[in-house]
Amino acid sequence: RRWGWGMAGELRQAAARDPDRIAVVDEHGDQLTYRQLLDRAERLSRSMRSGLGVQAGDRVGLLCRNHHGLIEGIVAATLLGADAVLVNTGLSAAQLVTVAEEQRLRVLVHDSEFAERILGVPAEVRRVDEHGLDDLIAAALPGDRPAPPTQDGRTIVLTSGTTGAPKGARRPVPTGFGPLVSIIDRIPLHARDTVLIAAPIFHTWGYAALQVAFALRATIVLHRRFDPAATLDALVTHRCQALFAVPVMLQRLLDVPPPDPRPPLKVVAVSGSALPGGLANRFMDSYGEVIYNLYGSTEVSWAAIAGPADLRQAPTTAGRPPHGTRLEIVDDAGEPVPAGRVGRILVGNEMLFEGYTSGVRRETHDGLLDTGDLGRVNHEGLLFVDGRADDMIVSGGENVFPSEVEDLLTRLPQVREAAVLGVPDPQYGQRLAAFLALHPGTALDPEAVREYVRHYLARFSVPRDVIFVKYLPRNATGKVVPRELRRYYG
Ligand code: ATP
Repeated sequence: RRWGWGMAGELRQAAARDPDRIAVVDEHGDQLTYRQLLDRAERLSRSMRSGLGVQAGDRVGLLCRNHHGLIEGIVAATLLGADAVLVNTGLSAAQLVTVAEEQRLRVLVHDSEFAERILGVPAEVRRVDEHGLDDLIAAALPGDRPAPPTQDGRTIVLTSGTTGAPKGARRPVPTGFGPLVSIIDRIPLHARDTVLIAAPIFHTWGYAALQVAFALRATIVLHRRFDPAATLDALVTHRCQALFAVPVMLQRLLDVPPPDPRPPLKVVAVSGSALPGGLANRFMDSYGEVIYNLYGSTEVSWAAIAGPADLRQAPTTAGRPPHGTRLEIVDDAGEPVPAGRVGRILVGNEMLFEGYTSGVRRETHDGLLDTGDLGRVNHEGLLFVDGRADDMIVSGGENVFPSEVEDLLTRLPQVREAAVLGVPDPQYGQRLAAFLALHPGTALDPEAVREYVRHYLARFSVPRDVIFVKYLPRNATGKVVPRELRRYYG
């Protein structure tokens, strides 16, 4: 069969093969079967066309938390040959206007909680209430069967905007089993598993999780918001085999008492940002050998996977490229570097994005895309991601990776979260500033922190500034926002 990653095609396949299987369960226990989900999406698609005038080639924005209405919206738009643009729920009112303009959104479908934030958005807006898009779905005319478009629309995923304005990346619809095999070859996921997707679906990782779940015809548990206690509860109640999350969620799950008995989890797959050293192992001490760390991005999808055994052996590794993915570490001249040496990470696979919606094309060399990240592969073939090339700090002529220092700092028992950045320094060009959020009821002396780092790392890696904060500013995908931390320096 022709098997693609397009949401509409996937849902059709699942509804044909497993019509009565529960597709989605929400936090209230309300559920929809695959047949019902497809039926709702098809009706929504008809009313999007007749009521909102959406046509092939248009763009439909979706500003939604994790719920079935978001899935219906993606499928409905793509069924019409329109592109579904997944909009980050953490964007400000001004950023939403920019995104709507840049993406030329015809319609923006949004959860009611964002009603005020979208006031200035130049697009037709449609609110999703607690019943999802029921009113629009009900408005579909029964006999209205438009001719299918020549091809399904695409999903456009925005990058996290960590380094600037979010960029729209057009996701491909590759055919064949390659992408699915690359996952199930390394992660013990099975057809008809029950999975909880806690990572936001508007983000590349949550969206990938949804694609995998559809391909497996899984039952998908979705909560609008991530709440650690409710998540643990749902994992037990629904007997979930897998949880898809972003790394910061693991810490939040560890902050609440573990349920007894523990959920029957086999897989906790995390991606989207670096997994802090020690966190994977602490989580596994409590929940078993379940953590899979996936390295990837909006542009390359997943490019390396570390399993529990890798993480026990090397807690900060991102593992090895899966089947069908090529990963190379090269120097600035594009020449491969020897094992253990740091260089730029290049990735080639059939999941590479098609290009930015801004018109900026992806540049590949020999099928490999530059991720913008630096990293190294050790003699055993394990990848270690040092972070974005742009984040590297040059202090007194020496290169320092924030991730290395952050990782060390999070090993201090008092430290809950750590972020390190370079700040301008008259003498050294840049100096290191460490922002630490401590566990409640604990304290640390800045000099003791410096002494600790000095013990393990070179002199130039020691943060001269140690700043204690209540929590680190994070965006909706759980990434620390350096811009916000820099405000500390005025
Ligand atoms: P923008 O491109 O707008 O600045 P962004 O790069 O943060 O945003 P994403 O595509 O969400 O947007 O993030 C991908 C980046 O996240 C990767 O390039 C890498 O730096 C980091 N990353 C993702 N997963 C991991 C991981 N498992 N380990 C280390 N870093 C990771």
